[in-house]
Amino acid sequence: MDNKYFLQRSLHSVWHPCTQMKRHEGLPLVPIRSGRGVWLHDFDGKRYLDAVSSWWVNLFGHCNPRINAAIVAQLDTLEHVMLAGFTHEPVVRLSERLAALAPAGLGHCFYASDGASATEIALKMSAHYWRNTGRPGKTGFISLQNGYHGETLGALSVTDVALFRDAYGPLLQHNATVPSPDWRNAAEGESAEHFALRCAAHLEEHLQQHHGSIAAFIVEPLVQGATGMAMYHPAYLQRARELCERYRVHLIADEIAVGMGRTGTMFACEQANISPDFLLLSKGISGGYLPLSVVMATDEVYRAFYSDDVARGFLHSHSYTGNPLACSAALATLDIFGQDEIISANRAKSAYFNQLAIPLRDHPQVRHFRNTGMIWAFEVDSLHGDFAQRCFSLGLEYELLLRPVGNTVYFMPPYVISEEEMQLLATRALKIVEALT
Ligand SMILES: *Cc1c(COP(=O)(O)O)cnc(C)c1O
Repeated sequence: MDNKYFLQRSLHSVWHPCTQMKRHEGLPLVPIRSGRGVWLHDFDGKRYLDAVSSWWVNLFGHCNPRINAAIVAQLDTLEHVMLAGFTHEPVVRLSERLAALAPAGLGHCFYASDGASATEIALKMSAHYWRNTGRPGKTGFISLQNGYHGETLGALSVTDVALFRDAYGPLLQHNATVPSPDWRNAAEGESAEHFALRCAAHLEEHLQQHHGSIAAFIVEPLVQGATGMAMYHPAYLQRARELCERYRVHLIADEIAVGMGRTGTMFACEQANISPDFLLLSKGISGGYLPLSVVMATDEVYRAFYSDDVARGFLHSHSYTGNPLACSAALATLDIFGQDEIISANRAKSAYFNQLAIPLRDHPQVRHFRNTGMIWAFEVDSLHGDFAQRCFSLGLEYELLLRPVGNTVYFMPPYVISEEEMQLLATRALKIVEALT
């Protein structure tokens, strides 16, 4: 297809996500023809290293042969069947495997198609649990400042990103936020752990006063992604777990972005050695192939819905709940974790990249260089207005797909990135920073 013509058609017919469409008057879309491994290829023979895993979903590269094969095999067997009243092999196998892998006690998998829906489900399930157990007044939620849990109305009501939220304020339930343990806000000389515990004291104070009306505390474990990869000490999660227990409030771990190995362990909660009441997964769960999300819940939650009374059940549904193709992609993704010992391989990759990134970290205009597992981020002191846009455009010139959040540059590459590709990423990112400062 002719490139220019194709772009024009896209701008006429497609309303792109998270985009002020008028900006595309001056900024062309990037048409992608194919992908292989960490590389995306356009129509002009140019390539881009997908350093953000296509919005954090891709784990094992584009067009991964093993995931492709699993989906094709499933396609020839059963493409889809409704999950109410019916079941199928991929959804059963996936649920069993997730329950075996996840922190203890999360034995029941409820499926949807995207992250925001998983958040909606967890919020509804939590409030409904309290209603079913005789505490119907517990309908409020708490979340962290600068937290992100998706953009449907319920999810947005626990998301603290002004740009996404402000236009819809009147449509949202009013929920409280508590201070984020983001270590960049620690006092001079204060450790990340001490700061985390100081923030947890605010959570405690809030719970003490309001627990009677609060259903759940929802949190992104270890890394708050969408507001710019804020990282914090696991002590916060340990304390939050204790406090939620004490004040009888559910703990919802939103691992939509940080689950599936991203923080260096299969699930971020493992690093705090805690089990939440709800665990949310999406993004990487299907290897970045197909829309799939899951809410994992405890036996205790499940039992509160188990009754002769239909209305006590969880009467929530999505048409594509538990889609067999998506489940088979997720099963193939889990297979790769085992076959290639991804968690330990990533540990070595992470250490290697940290070495390569020393010149970036030490650059005088780079602040708060940070790393958790396969996530890196730093702020750039730049006098350029619209840093994010310039960095994105310059990235393309240097064959990198970067998508900064404000002045925060982050890398979240697919796990298949090679040493050579990491070298390319580190050296070219440094050149971009130098050009923009
Ligand atoms: C991306 C994300 C979501 C929303 O997922 P969608 O599939 O985009 O709706 C929710 N929570 C976190 C932490 C996320 O990173």
